[in-house]
Amino acid sequence: MAGIARITPPNQAAPSRALRSRLHRVGHREGETSPLKRPVRAALPVRTDPPVRTCVGCRRRVSVSEVLRFVTVGSELRPDPRRRLPGRGAHLHLDPACFALAERRRAFGRALRFTGVLDTAPLAEHIRAVIASHGTTGGGASPRPDQQGGRPT
Ligand SMILES: [Zn+2]
Repeated sequence: MAGIARITPPNQAAPSRALRSRLHRVGHREGETSPLKRPVRAALPVRTDPPVRTCVGCRRRVSVSEVLRFVTVGSELRPDPRRRLPGRGAHLHLDPACFALAERRRAFGRALRFTGVLDTAPLAEHIRAVIASHGTTGGGASPRPDQQGGRPT
């Protein structure tokens, strides 16, 4: 009687548990071999064609490098030469003629979806300052060979 009882020892579960844990480890390793599932970080949208913007003054579509971005801050038109300010922006040639055109047509408010009276002085001042520093209005002091050609008149 006693001998029969010993045939089934209660510690039989021990080796099988070890085996199971080994299997588990193998399975785990298999799971690690799928790094492709890692989500690819959403990068910046890749644009192949050069970005083009419309000048709100002359309505010409030109490369972004040719126009100045500006946004509204409160009711103020704020130049954004580095294109970093948040919010809706519009673009304008660094040209008083384009500025005057845009102002006359109220294109600033329309482009920026702004209803009300805009303070255009900061933008006008910026254009004046840039033009003065470039010396395009007869100054000629700038050593930078900024080619103003290529812009059709
Ligand atoms: Zn323009």
